[in-house]
Amino acid sequence: MTRGIRQDRKPAENRHLPPRPIAAIRLDGGRLCLDFVNTIHDRYATQVEDYLQQPQRFAEWCVRAAALRPDDGVRMPRTARERAALMREVAALRRHLHALFAARVDDLPPPADALRGLDRWLHRAWQGQSLGADGQLHWRADARDARLPLKRIALDALDLLGDPHPTRLRRCANTRSCGWLFLDTSKNRRRRWCAMETCGTAEKMQRYRQG
Ligand SMILES: [Zn+2]
Repeated sequence: MTRGIRQDRKPAENRHLPPRPIAAIRLDGGRLCLDFVNTIHDRYATQVEDYLQQPQRFAEWCVRAAALRPDDGVRMPRTARERAALMREVAALRRHLHALFAARVDDLPPPADALRGLDRWLHRAWQGQSLGADGQLHWRADARDARLPLKRIALDALDLLGDPHPTRLRRCANTRSCGWLFLDTSKNRRRRWCAMETCGTAEKMQRYRQG
């Protein structure tokens, strides 16, 4: 039962493990932009596991998290240079969103570069849409590239930042390693963990051993 709960973290030993299947990645943030920020496993580990290291994994995760839909028909980058540029943008938006949400959780002012970073993506998202005859905004054909999910994530982040209940945004109480962010939609607003079966249980085991 205790197997798999690492007491003394030695992340370097995990370096040669095969990449975690995308289907096994937990989506516990409560909304798209938080799940995107949580694509770093154990944010406070000395050597972090980034779930989205290649464009293919990024695309697969986006389908799983519904940031990409089967009928989107996006074009993925073909050259190594384009792929590297995409992954830099994925990492940068994720870094900016984490900085903005972490500041919100910690009741600190939002970092200016993170605000600028999100602002750029919001403008790209708005520019990529046109009003249709049905009165709805639709993604234009030229916006349907591998960056479409980043635009959706940016719009979702804007929506979250405007949440009238900002205290619902929380950080997992396992701050030794996890550091994931989530939206507490529980009735009594007392959710402490990204997931009880991972961090909640690990924390309880730790206390039991120390006690
Ligand atoms: Zn956690």
